Amino acid sequence: MYRRSQSGGRRLLIVSYHRVVEDLTGELQRSIPGLLISKETFRRHLEQAAAAGYEFATIGDAVDVMAGRRSTKRDLCVVTFDDGYRDVYRFAYPLLKRMGVPAIVYLPTDFIGTKRRFNHDRLFHLIQVAQKRRLRPYFTTLPEPALKLAGPILSGSRPVSDALDEFIGEHSARVVQEVIQALEQELGGGANLLPEQGDIMDWDEVRHMARDGFEFGAHTLGHTVLTMEPAEQMEREIIESKQAIERELGTPVRDFAYCNGWYSEEVIRLLKQHGFRSGVTTEDLPNRVGGDPFTLKRKVLWENFSIGMLGDYSEALTGCQLDDCFAMLGVSRPVTGRRPHLSATRAANELLMRSQISLEEPT
Ligand SMILES: [Zn+2]
Repeated sequence: MYRRSQSGGRRLLIVSYHRVVEDLTGELQRSIPGLLISKETFRRHLEQAAAAGYEFATIGDAVDVMAGRRSTKRDLCVVTFDDGYRDVYRFAYPLLKRMGVPAIVYLPTDFIGTKRRFNHDRLFHLIQVAQKRRLRPYFTTLPEPALKLAGPILSGSRPVSDALDEFIGEHSARVVQEVIQALEQELGGGANLLPEQGDIMDWDEVRHMARDGFEFGAHTLGHTVLTMEPAEQMEREIIESKQAIERELGTPVRDFAYCNGWYSEEVIRLLKQHGFRSGVTTEDLPNRVGGDPFTLKRKVLWENFSIGMLGDYSEALTGCQLDDCFAMLGVSRPVTGRRPHLSATRAANELLMRSQISLEEPT
């Protein structure tokens, strides 16, 4: 009730998922945990939200309510997926269709229909390989950012997911790419350095979902954190990802998701200029009537958010997540996605910063 009155009458809850998997135990051994939810837990989220009185809505509905163009008698829940992982097509899509729940999938279009893997999945995999071989950071020829990432993880002082998020958010795509190459080289190359998991939808699968009414938004070309890129690259990522989806689906694309949740005034200006109507963040805050449709707040959910003390599904815990109890109690704090725009000079300088670091086997 408190959140409802804060939001201007009705709650506008936007939830975000990445991968919906069949074999959670298996995936947890090899994938970034924070991207995973089992299909059973996902189904229970939907059922529980429906039972709690939420009406499932599209992102367009939420934007219209926020702008005061339409009203709603019930709280709205918008289901979103980032990145276009194939598991969403295989396991979430049939369920959503059966339950009549609308959803939007944000696509990094350069990846769709390819066998490529995302940088975050590649880095996670490379670090796992290094951990399995019990390698430790040592001085030779790796770029400095690679040590900053791998060092604390391999020495056990930092959890992988935390370090990865920060690293990808702080470096340009070029630096991230360079670090991947450097790590691959250090690990001796070979096909097993590319993760098997984390495959991405192809355009036929996207069209299949679109024919059933599911929506697609843009999520850059190369899953790029835009605030780290020079102006021309930023604009290209926005325009061309929109055009690619429009070309493949024949429908206008007006919704965007910021990679890593990071945005700047400049990014928002470009989105408006190129015909977008919304941008979703990963800021875990309530959406308010009258709020900015280009900084839509989202609750990013994964399996652990619903696992109780006994290790099984907890309805109470899920209810607390949906109701935002932890934020209201001050137990969880939202991270803001607004960032200053870093200049091209800074990005170029990063490439020059090198030191003498590599991995060695333990003695
Ligand atoms: Zn993403």
